[in-house]
Amino acid sequence: MASQELVKRLNQTIENIPDFPIDGIQFKDISTIFLDHQLYKDVIADFVQFSKGKIDAVCGIESRGYLFGVAIASALEVPFILIRKAGKLPPPVISESYDLEYGSAVIETREGQIEKGQRILIHDDLLATGGTTEAAAKLVEKQGAEVSQFSFLIGLKDLKGDEKLKKFNAEIYRTLE
Ligand code: AMP
Repeated sequence: MASQELVKRLNQTIENIPDFPIDGIQFKDISTIFLDHQLYKDVIADFVQFSKGKIDAVCGIESRGYLFGVAIASALEVPFILIRKAGKLPPPVISESYDLEYGSAVIETREGQIEKGQRILIHDDLLATGGTTEAAAKLVEKQGAEVSQFSFLIGLKDLKGDEKLKKFNAEIYRTLE
């Protein structure tokens, strides 16, 4: 669990922007973290402590999931795999579609980058409804790997995203709740 000191520094740094990009959304702007290299290092160390010795690879969700995900994988000396929105990765790819409030979306990984039997950490900056992360977990399982952990910088409790993730029987970590 993150120290109270780290939680306090993050709460002082992350900006809450009301009604962006649409009315009713409290947008969490994490870009301010990257202005403070010591804070960034401390956030990565906290994520690394959660995953150390428990995973074989990290899957990061486009695009803010890459900002911490690559550094976590590098510190743990394991591969990092990009999960991208459809049409961004060259073929061959493995795809998973999921429902949005209006319509649907597709996410992809390049075929062959996830190996069967690997214990995977799925990482993103923020857990809201859990729809994106649930689709990412299905994409990982479809390739014969095991979702062992989820980590997020922020987990918005009111949206109950973790209920969608329960079925994967993986550990869930949020630095801020
Ligand atoms: P969801 O699929 O609803 O869990 O949405 C998660 C994705 O949407 C994450 O990749 C976030 O980057 C983004 N997101 C959702 N809500 C917010 C928010 N309030 N502030 C910033 N990003 C958000």
